Amino acid sequence: MSYFRVNERCNGCLACVENCPADALSARDAQDQRTLLHNMARCARCGNCWRVCPQDAIEFQHLLVGDWDAVTTLPLVRCEVCNAPIDTDRYTETVSSRLGRKMKALCPRHREGIEDFARAAVLSGGKEKREVLP
Ligand code: SF4
Ligand code: SF4
Repeated sequence: MSYFRVNERCNGCLACVENCPADALSARDAQDQRTLLHNMARCARCGNCWRVCPQDAIEFQHLLVGDWDAVTTLPLVRCEVCNAPIDTDRYTETVSSRLGRKMKALCPRHREGIEDFARAAVLSGGKEKREVLP
């Protein structure tokens, strides 16, 4: 989807292309069609195209608002205790493989709780620490 949009008043005059200071607009004539092209990576959103368009055809508001593009979607790992999202499964795999041990799925709050419990167990002479720490 393009954020540079024109309405039905565009007549293909190319005034916008000729007056774009960033070379972000171009046109391709092929067979019996002219296609107006826009390159978002080059566009400075300066509004010059919108100012010079004799047809008032550029719907510049879309270029200003933009939107969030979904780049990638990964499965989430949730806290075993409260179900809060913590990391992605791939991130957990990465950390586990670097540490050489499996990470427990615990959010910071519950991880802290377990560490406190382990500390208390150690202080009280128990040996639970190794068993409960992630
Ligand atoms: S200046 Fe306006 S009418 Fe001309 S090609 Fe560009 S958008 Fe279309
Ligand atoms: S907003 Fe400016 S940089 Fe972007 S296409 Fe229009 S004239 Fe070119």
